[in-house]
This record gives sequence, structure tokens and C-alpha cells, in this order.
Amino acid sequence: MLDMMVVKKRVEDIFPEIAEIRNRIHMNPELSELEMNTRDVITDYLKEQNIDFSTNDEDFGVVGIIDSGGKAIGIRGDIDALPIQEEVDFEYKSQNPGVMHACGHDFHTAILLGTARILNELRNELPVGIKVFFQPAEETVGGAKQMIDRGCLKNPEVVSVIGLHLNPDIDTGKIELVNGVLNATFTEFKIIVKGKGTHGAHPDMGTDSIAVTADIIKGSQNIISRLKDPLKPGVISFGRIYGGTKDNIIPEEVVLEGIIRSFSSEEQKFLKSKLDDMARHASRWAGAKCDVIFEDSYPPLINDGGLYEIVKEEFSREFGFENLVLDSPPSLGADDFAYFCHESRGFYYTIGCHKPGDREYYPIHSPRFDPDINCIRTGILSQISAVKAIWESI
Ligand SMILES: [Zn+2]
Ligand SMILES: [Zn+2]
Repeated sequence: MLDMMVVKKRVEDIFPEIAEIRNRIHMNPELSELEMNTRDVITDYLKEQNIDFSTNDEDFGVVGIIDSGGKAIGIRGDIDALPIQEEVDFEYKSQNPGVMHACGHDFHTAILLGTARILNELRNELPVGIKVFFQPAEETVGGAKQMIDRGCLKNPEVVSVIGLHLNPDIDTGKIELVNGVLNATFTEFKIIVKGKGTHGAHPDMGTDSIAVTADIIKGSQNIISRLKDPLKPGVISFGRIYGGTKDNIIPEEVVLEGIIRSFSSEEQKFLKSKLDDMARHASRWAGAKCDVIFEDSYPPLINDGGLYEIVKEEFSREFGFENLVLDSPPSLGADDFAYFCHESRGFYYTIGCHKPGDREYYPIHSPRFDPDINCIRTGILSQISAVKAIWESI
């Protein structure tokens, strides 16, 4: 039986060390799929703590294992940074130009190391195994899927996975829990409109790919406002459009790139098929051709309802009901933790990192994102109390 008073004391004891690791990782951020030094920081610490782990040759993920025999509970922390030039001047500023931990994954990594350390120290009290997933490439290719494909949920079998993300919208010490759908599924698309180039003075001599592009943009927003069920959220957004060389030349080709997001695979399928139809019709009508290419990314992130109840009750006891933020709406943001929810029972929650009383506010992915270091305490304590509550329910 895990004594939470002992855990709390240990969290306080190791806080300075974990804060130092976080600052070190923050100073040396690495982009997705390039997290080599971060992996070394992780494996060095796990070695120091005598925690077994495995790595692989294809990416920089690390799976730490505290095996008590039988089944296991997984805890995931993502480790990659973003292509952002940090604009906060402080002691631990990024030393890697143009790269920054602006999504808090430096915290996620350090918090998970602290969690692993304490659970390993108390391993004789654990009735289940613990696996800690230090996961690369959350911001790009979905490192979660690669970890799962390589078998991180097997041997020992992982029955539930939890994960956390920093949340600058709420004060440090508070925790936000959402039941059911938390994040969107998304698809990247590319539409290539192929017309016939001509002089701008003689549009009738060619096929204007720019005019077709304008119809596609307008038509896509009609899909959202007129065809989609208004009670089911979804977006079609364009992020990049290119084509043409000069003001008086109508180009042969224009390329549009964008994203579709929604909360269910069915809705996503519907939006994709309508966009595909509409782009082809708009092109055909004008005498142009078009290719529409979709690349599906993360599935929707859906929290397990049973785990939500178990974790909510435990956090209410541990942190006080007044410190829980409940019933928030889902967000069309995306996170590849969704794959863990898809393949296992998963629960993802966020911890406040806004310094109480601080009026400055910068969201994640901002070059000024500057979380409160004290949220490390909430992070470690919440992960340990969540896994405790989950194993007690098995
Ligand atoms: Zn991010
Ligand atoms: Zn993130």
C-alpha cells in the first residue's frame, strides 16, 4: 500500500533535482526526431536510479520499466521541442537558436523522471508494474504510434496509460480533467489545381487556376457552414497557397495546403469527401483539373470514462475538489496521446502552470511561454496518485 504522505515528502526532497533537470533540458531543446541529447539525459538518470529501460535504433524514445510481475500501468511524457526562437531572457534560456521548449515537453520529461524515481524507490509497495514512455516526435510525425507499433504496450501488458500536459490557462496547483472527447482528429490536405497558363489580358485563352482556387476556398467554408451538422464542431483551414510568377501571367498551377479537424472519424470522413467533391466540381466547371491528396494524422483523443471517474475521485482527495477544473469543453487541438487512448484505456489531463497572481499570460507555442517551475510538484504527485487509484481499481 502506497503511503501518499511518504510520496509527498519524496516529491519535496527531489524537487530541486527535477527542477534542475527541467532547466537543463530547456536550455538544450531538440526538434522532433532529433532528440538525441534529451534521450541521453533520460537514460543517464534512469541508470543512476537503477531503473531498467530499453531504447531502439530508429528513434530516440525510451521505455523505462519498473516490473512487479503481472500487468502494468503506463505513463507517457513527450520529449520534443519546437522550431521557435525563444524570446524570454532568463537564466535557462534555450542555447539552441531557433529551437525552444514552448509546449512544456521539457517539464513533461522531467516530471516523468521524478515520478519514475519515486515509484522505483517504493517498488516493493507496488502491486502492478509501471512503464514510463519517454516519447519523441509528438509535434510532428506522432511518435506515440511508432512506440506502440514497436510493442511498448506489451510484455508486460499495459492495461491503462495516463499522461499530462502543461496548461497555462489555469493556476499552478489546479488540474483540469475532461471526460470523453478531449482533442480532435486531423487530416492534412493538398489540392493541386491545374489550369492553362495565359496572359492576364487574355484569360479566355487559358484556364485560370487562381479563379478556381478562389472558388475552392469559398466552397470549403460553405461545407462548414451549410453542409456540416452545426452541432458537430469541425474546421477546414488553409495554411499555405502558392502559384504564379508575375502579375500579368495567369499560372498553370496553384497549390493549396490546409487541415481538416473534427471530433470523430465519421465527421472527418464526411468533411474529406465533401472537400474532395467540391474541389473537383469547381475545377471541372472552369475547365481545369485538380488532384486532392489527404494525409490522415492523429485519431481523436477520447479519455476513458471509467478512468476519468477514478482519477477525479483520487485528485479530489489529494488536491481538494476546489482545485479541479471540470466540464471544460474539448479543443480542436490535437495530441498523439490519442494513440494510447485508441490502443489501451487512456486518460490525459492538464496541470496548471500559470504563476498565481501573475498577470502576464502566454499560451503554449508562444516564444514567451514561461511556465511556473512549481508545477513539477503537481505533476509528479498527480501521476503517482493517478496510477495508485487505477491499480486499486483493477
Ligand atoms: Zn505542442
Ligand atoms: Zn505539447
